[in-house]
Amino acid sequence: MVKENCGVVGIFSLDGANVIPMVIDALRALQHRGQEAWGIAVPKKQPYKQLGLVSSGVADFDKVTREYESSAAIGHVRYSTMGKSNLENAQPLKVKDLCVAHNGTISNAEELTGMVGGCTFTPQNVSDTLIAAQRLVTLMSENGKLGNALSILKNEMVGSFCFTFVSDDNSVYAARDPKGFRPMVLGYRKDNNTYIVASESAALSAMGAQLVRDVKPGELLKISPTGLESEMFSQEKKYAHCSFEFTYFAHPSSVMEGSNIYLARKRIGQFLARKFAIKDADIVIPVPDSARPAALGYAQELGVPFEEGLLKDRYSRKGPLRSFIEPHQSDRVEINRWIIPITQVISGKHVVVVDDSLVRGTSSKAIIKALRRAGARKISMVITFPQIQFPCYAGIDFPSQDELVTYMGDGRKYSEEEITEKVRQLIGADFLGYNDAKNLAAAVGMDENSMCFTCSSGDYSTLGIKPMFKTRAEVRGE
Ligand code: SF4
Repeated sequence: MVKENCGVVGIFSLDGANVIPMVIDALRALQHRGQEAWGIAVPKKQPYKQLGLVSSGVADFDKVTREYESSAAIGHVRYSTMGKSNLENAQPLKVKDLCVAHNGTISNAEELTGMVGGCTFTPQNVSDTLIAAQRLVTLMSENGKLGNALSILKNEMVGSFCFTFVSDDNSVYAARDPKGFRPMVLGYRKDNNTYIVASESAALSAMGAQLVRDVKPGELLKISPTGLESEMFSQEKKYAHCSFEFTYFAHPSSVMEGSNIYLARKRIGQFLARKFAIKDADIVIPVPDSARPAALGYAQELGVPFEEGLLKDRYSRKGPLRSFIEPHQSDRVEINRWIIPITQVISGKHVVVVDDSLVRGTSSKAIIKALRRAGARKISMVITFPQIQFPCYAGIDFPSQDELVTYMGDGRKYSEEEITEKVRQLIGADFLGYNDAKNLAAAVGMDENSMCFTCSSGDYSTLGIKPMFKTRAEVRGE
């Protein structure tokens, strides 16, 4: 099954301005949410799609702006959590007179397949977005409006979604799932009377628009020639905002649920320094790039110098890319291979390395090895996210449970301390400390109960499922 996380945007200009240049700017600003493919859809046309980074299509921007000219459009950058990175799986997708872009994962898409008919399920080539869109269109034909269809679909689906839609009757819609797993914001640009809905406010900043507010979990927005309308398709009160967005996924400039991501990460570092006050440290360094603000906060709180001890080679083929969201292990390894230590900064020091997460352990192991080669006297590693022990069914591609570095594999229940010690030995650090949910939520300034920590707690009650964990081979249908 092809599953998606990603970045989405939907734009409508009430002044009739051509919104395509704004969609392109927004997608470039959302590139950190997906670097495999991108696309744009307008009413009454097949979507335009390209593989690779948005910037790699720069030669075609003028042509696309002319040929797809429209005051209503949606866009998408793709990060597949499974499946092939081909153009067919790129989004937006068109089903009848509705184009759809999706950020999230629909974990029971196989079940939904049975409800849409005419769709033969084959792992690797069916997209959960396509199945959800087909089901949505069926429900709309039976129940009239999109809001009615979503209120039914939300009960049939397991997973997370932020959708943007553009319809052939020239309306843009945006919907956020009832738990608010994935982020979505509403913005406005005054000079051309344009509404924008996007995964993150970084997209609004890129086009000179103002952040109006977060889209509410369970809210459907419609933007059409008559203006902006809002309706709730769910009255859910218990939210589950993804905590991983705050430590890794989101752009530092974005504001999410009222918190700026850069400042939130810096505070996470400060709170971590209180949890793990490594007083004999000589320097604090980040693993580039997402952990940088947290390392700065950690260093400032502890009163230890912050240094850039590891630098990412931005000029290698994959240098500018984010390793975690690369679909293939070989590419992740290549990106991490080009994180180079600065010997003169590291040599002879007790180094505290701050990273945003520890998933498979391969990159941490490589980084610690490189720091030892650069002459580090002692290496302590602190992780801004809690221990990841369970798969995510709400839009982030953590590996299957058996691929996680925390997996013990013998069926016995291990304490958090025992797991930390096993991981510490495996990556070769002198000390390893993980953040915890309470500390992370307090640093972000949110109620812990309004955030999702399922991948560390194993409590899937917010999704209403008790998953049967599969190996990677089983997940791929091999
Ligand atoms: S399980 Fe983890 S990664 Fe997935 S939505 Fe929850 S916090 Fe985010």
